[in-house]
Amino acid sequence: MLDMQIGRRGLLGGAILAGASTMIGSRAFAAMPERRLAFRNIHTNETFDARFFGAQGWDQQGLAELNHGLRDWRNNESTQMDPKLMLLLSQIRDKLDLPPQTKLEMISGYRSPQTNGALRARGGAHTGVASKSQHMLGKATDIHMPGVPLDRLHLVAMSMQAGGVGYYPKDGFVHVDTGRVRTW
Ligand SMILES: [Zn+2]
Repeated sequence: MLDMQIGRRGLLGGAILAGASTMIGSRAFAAMPERRLAFRNIHTNETFDARFFGAQGWDQQGLAELNHGLRDWRNNESTQMDPKLMLLLSQIRDKLDLPPQTKLEMISGYRSPQTNGALRARGGAHTGVASKSQHMLGKATDIHMPGVPLDRLHLVAMSMQAGGVGYYPKDGFVHVDTGRVRTW
C-alpha cells in the first residue's frame, strides 16, 4: 500500500515536471525571433532559403523545404530532419556574425541506408560508426561556411555544446549533429 502511494506520487510529480518543462519550452520559443536557414548543396548546386521558425512555432512548410534540400542527393531519398539541427546550424551562423541569408555550403545531410552502405564499402573519409548513424537518423550535416576558416567554424561549433562535432580539415568540412555531445 505504501509502495503504491509512493508510486502514485512519483507519477504525479513526473507529470507536473513534464508540464513545467513544456511551459518553459514554449515560453522560450515564444521569445525566439523568426529563424531562417539558407544553404547551397555543393553536389547539385541547388540553393535553399527557408524560414523554419516563426511566431506560431516551427514552420512545417519551411522545414519540408529544408528536408528536401538535405535529401540524399545520390538517390533523392529524403527524411524528416531534426528541426533542432536547423536551429543549431542557424545559431552557429549567428555566432560567426554571418547574416541569415548566408548560404552554408552543404556537403552532406541525410544519408539513406543504401548510400551509407555504399560509402562504407568504399571506405575513405567519414565512415565512422558514430557519425554515420546520425546522418541516417536525419540529425547530422557536414558543412562549410563561405569565407570562414574551417578551424574557426570548428571552434564555434564545439562551443555550442549541442551535439557531436567532427573536424575534417582534409575534406574541408565540419560535421555537426544533434546527437550526444562529443568531438572527434
Ligand atoms: Zn558527417
